Amino acid sequence: LLGDDGRARPTIFAEMSALATATGAVNLGQGFPDVDGPASVARAAADAIAAGHNQYPPGPGVPELRAAVAEHQRDRYGLDVDPDREVLVTAGATEAIAATVLALAGPGDEVLTLEPFYDAYAAVVALAGATHTTAPLRATPDGFRLDVDALSAAFTDRTRIVLLNTPHNPTGTVLTPDELAAVARLAVAHDALVVTDEVYEHLVLDAGVRHVPVATLPGMAGRTLTISSAGKTFSFTGWKIGWVTGPEHLVTAVRTVKQFLTYVSGAPFQPAVAFALRDPDVARWVEDLAASLATRRDRLCAGLTAAGFDVVRPQGTYFVLADAASLGFDDGAALCRALPSLAGVVGVPVSAFTRAGSEADRALRSWVRFTFVKRDEVLDEAVRRLARLR
Ligand code: PMP
Ligand code: GLN
Repeated sequence: LLGDDGRARPTIFAEMSALATATGAVNLGQGFPDVDGPASVARAAADAIAAGHNQYPPGPGVPELRAAVAEHQRDRYGLDVDPDREVLVTAGATEAIAATVLALAGPGDEVLTLEPFYDAYAAVVALAGATHTTAPLRATPDGFRLDVDALSAAFTDRTRIVLLNTPHNPTGTVLTPDELAAVARLAVAHDALVVTDEVYEHLVLDAGVRHVPVATLPGMAGRTLTISSAGKTFSFTGWKIGWVTGPEHLVTAVRTVKQFLTYVSGAPFQPAVAFALRDPDVARWVEDLAASLATRRDRLCAGLTAAGFDVVRPQGTYFVLADAASLGFDDGAALCRALPSLAGVVGVPVSAFTRAGSEADRALRSWVRFTFVKRDEVLDEAVRRLARLR
């Protein structure tokens, strides 16, 4: 977790946002919307404060939020979870992931992720003293795809957890039912648990593409913990309300760790998120968000292509990966440090999501991640500036 000099490092997102602030560059690095979520949801939080929801909430989360999460899993995916025993509210998906890995993996265990991977995964596997193994997503004409042979080769008899992420940050891949079936088959064969990070579950951008929770696959509900949160779905990334659902014995293990990480959090935000999950107008707002993100994805992809990047069109999330090799830059990390002065724009090097020397690391060395969860005029300004790189 320390830098080469032995000192603590900020995360890549904090580092790049600070660089954007210091230089006045357009920030397409850290993924957060520049427009807040629905006013009705913000009002629900303000009302909850006024109504006195200001002391410690119950350890597993307020009952109405646990019930709303269980209803969401049932209505949306046909998944049955008991709100009292199989739902745990956490401080964002980040805590859910950390508590899960700390609860279920330790020294001698392997935690298998896709690569590239969200940066917190590697950190929390290290905190657990477990070993991080990976299977690459490879650039194909159909986007970044899972190679099932490589996945199979990455499993061992020590693989304790497969930590999946779909829709996937940073590639924007939405895993197909076939890819998920391969993961499920291998997890069963190796008696591994599946932990699935689905924070972008509602941000699927193409009509023909569907988000499928791995817990819905035959035989998987009993060995799968499903994680999501309110931040991305409702554009309130600072509220940090997340949840984990799954079989009681696994959720209980996660809660045992969680109670010593944050104990509880976000008392007034929990009823507001329950309202957001249940309100039909908010559901329409989320659909509109996904539709507008699809348009913004197309806008940014077109602009990056015109600026000389090679772009792989994402199917979900609010990130796009762009290869700068065609512009003569073979080191994405060096390019991202120089980008504010070269072009007045901030992006995140894809090497922040890889392990030094791995196949994915070598393949993605010259790639940069840009977010499109920004207003059109911000995206247009970024694209105008990036045209200077030619
Ligand atoms: N997982 C992924 C893949 C993410 O991109 C993020 C970042 N928002 C998180 C987890 C963390 O979610 P939260 O803000 O709810 O902790
Ligand atoms: N998930 C956001 C991203 O990938 C950042 C969250 C963070 O700053 N930790 O950009």
